[in-house]
Amino acid sequence: MVGSAMAAVLGHDIHFHDKKIALLEAGPRKEYDRMPDSYSNRVSSISPGSATLLSSFGAWDHVCSLRLKPFRRMQVWDACSEAMIVFEKDDLDDMGYIVENDVIMSALTKQLDAVADRVEVFYGSRAVGYTWPLPSHSCDTSPWVQIELADGRRLQTKLLIGADGHNSVVRKEAEIKNIEHRYDQSAVVATLHLSEATDNNVAWQRFLPTGPIALLPWSNVNHSDFIDTAGAMFRSAISLLKPSGTAVRQLPPSVAKVDPESRAMFPLGMGHATEYVQHRVALVGDAAHRVHPLAGQGVNLGFGDIACLAHHLSAAAFNGSDLGSLKHLLKFETERQRHNISLIAAIDVLKRLYSTRLAPLVLLRTWGLQATNALPPVKEQIMAFASK
Ligand SMILES: Cc1cc2nc3c(=O)[nH]c(=O)nc-3n(C[C@H](O)[C@H](O)[C@H](O)COP(=O)(O)OP(=O)(O)OC[C@H]3O[C@@H](n4cnc5c(N)ncnc54)[C@H](O)[C@@H]3O)c2cc1C
Repeated sequence: MVGSAMAAVLGHDIHFHDKKIALLEAGPRKEYDRMPDSYSNRVSSISPGSATLLSSFGAWDHVCSLRLKPFRRMQVWDACSEAMIVFEKDDLDDMGYIVENDVIMSALTKQLDAVADRVEVFYGSRAVGYTWPLPSHSCDTSPWVQIELADGRRLQTKLLIGADGHNSVVRKEAEIKNIEHRYDQSAVVATLHLSEATDNNVAWQRFLPTGPIALLPWSNVNHSDFIDTAGAMFRSAISLLKPSGTAVRQLPPSVAKVDPESRAMFPLGMGHATEYVQHRVALVGDAAHRVHPLAGQGVNLGFGDIACLAHHLSAAAFNGSDLGSLKHLLKFETERQRHNISLIAAIDVLKRLYSTRLAPLVLLRTWGLQATNALPPVKEQIMAFASK
């Protein structure tokens, strides 16, 4: 999603009209004219900021014409105490959108087709090796990064943008350090059918000591997406739907059945590249940072990287500067690391804080959640930050 969106943004930028952009994608082309009746099990919660980025080059209109589900309210609560927090939009704005990843890909593919004269997409093409140029002050005057494809073809570029996911080969071959940690935990996702028809516009999340469990709205009637990051999926699901506590809170809708075909599991971890750029190289998306899905921020961070990098590259292209120069790449790195590091750290702390049953920590997080819930300006700040 991030690499395709990056190529589409640059392809639609007037300052890039005389540049050639190549997108290498190891996978096949994904496109829908009409959505299949069944729902894909890979979905993302898309922030309003990401929707704005996708709108800037026409992709969001395609998403809207295919399938998405806006949500207006989010209820998050703790399994070990009565603490909870509710985020709600007072106005008619949406808080976010649940969108299938395939729908985003299909919309991006359409917008890449629209700029096919500037962006060449190589589907089914895996990059297997890179040769880096020496920094500009050295005697080697070759300004190109050489890229070798699995089928033996070779390409060269003045700027290589690595958007090749959390196991990024670009990052490894550029010898950029990655601070990483495996959570020893997997996410389980599935499509659920709700037992009764509801407005289905609330995102539910409960923090259990074994990991968060979330129920995300998906269709107008009775489909929801379920994400559980613990092993004991059904036990947790049942306790979520029939809580024994006395707290007055809205309850999530009950579940009639799970699509057995839709169940899938993804190992989870966090990672952060110590540098996002080097001479002629930039990293975006999961190649630069990987987060736990508890806050639904992974691809949103990636889209934020794109907006920032595209802004600096556009200015460089307008000024006729060398696109691969560290001068503007470093501006992108500074801006994005400032934003990303605090969010990545907060997500990691939340994950750890909610994984414990230790009474002092449960008390601490209970007070924290209750205080935040009671302070509308703080909640507004959190919502504003998460909606970028
Ligand atoms: C269970 C789960 C739920 C999530 N929910 C959310 C959510 O609600 N909201 C959110 O914002 N994020 C969410 N995320 C995170 C989100 O899915 C990721 O952040 C996002 O997919 C990263 O996109 P990417 O394009 O950077 O990397 P990837 O999706 O990993 O894509 C990398 C691409 O690079 C290609 N590639 C790799 N190597 C090569 C090569 N050598 N040559 C050519 N091509 C190559 C691959 O084919 C692939 O297309 C979730 C993640 C999980 C696991």
